Amino acid sequence: MTSHSGNVFVLSAPSGTGKSTLAKRLVQELPDLDFSISFTTRAPRAGEVDGKDYFFVDTATFDRMIAEGGLVEWVEVYGHKYGTGKDWINSHLATGRDILLDIETQGARNVHAAMPEAVMIFLIPPSAEELASRLRKRGRDPEAEIQVRLDHARHELSQFPAYDYLVVNDTLDLAYRDLQAVILATRARRERMGAVAETILKGF
Ligand code: 5GP
Repeated sequence: MTSHSGNVFVLSAPSGTGKSTLAKRLVQELPDLDFSISFTTRAPRAGEVDGKDYFFVDTATFDRMIAEGGLVEWVEVYGHKYGTGKDWINSHLATGRDILLDIETQGARNVHAAMPEAVMIFLIPPSAEELASRLRKRGRDPEAEIQVRLDHARHELSQFPAYDYLVVNDTLDLAYRDLQAVILATRARRERMGAVAETILKGF
């Protein structure tokens, strides 16, 4: 039995900022940190696995979860619904392991309202030009879609005051170092380590 509940880390970033790469590396390299697996109505992309990347569900199932209060938050983006399952989060946190939520800004605000102790991290591109260049290099989206994503990025960036930590992804390794520092510093906080310190103190 663990003596504490896990931490919730919320990571948001405009599309193309490098969020997925950094989030993947954090979960691979840091012990006791897992991805939150969201529910979505969008179809799986090539290589995506149900129950690993997302829980892929139909709209009726998603709407039933909303009606039954089974989601901590949900949003509709780019024509699809995405949401964070309440049971999954709660049972996972009870094991003492930390969770990383990779969600957009509206959902992030709702998570913060439901879980004020969640640590909010915002990843920022070094400049508008650099973000545009990264989106084009990625070669995934046509120019019109890139413009939509840049417009959306402007809106998302304006949400930065809702976050506790801002990390600029200019150089991937430095951004990774900053994200890791936020997670490790959170784990060392007194509220979380108090029980351990009490136990050690009793031995004196
Ligand atoms: P994608 O379709 O590229 O996987 O995700 C599109 C956007 O939805 C990304 O910004 C991603 O962070 C966000 N997203 C994924 N899951 C959730 C979720 O459960 N809740 C919210 N609010 N956003 C999500």
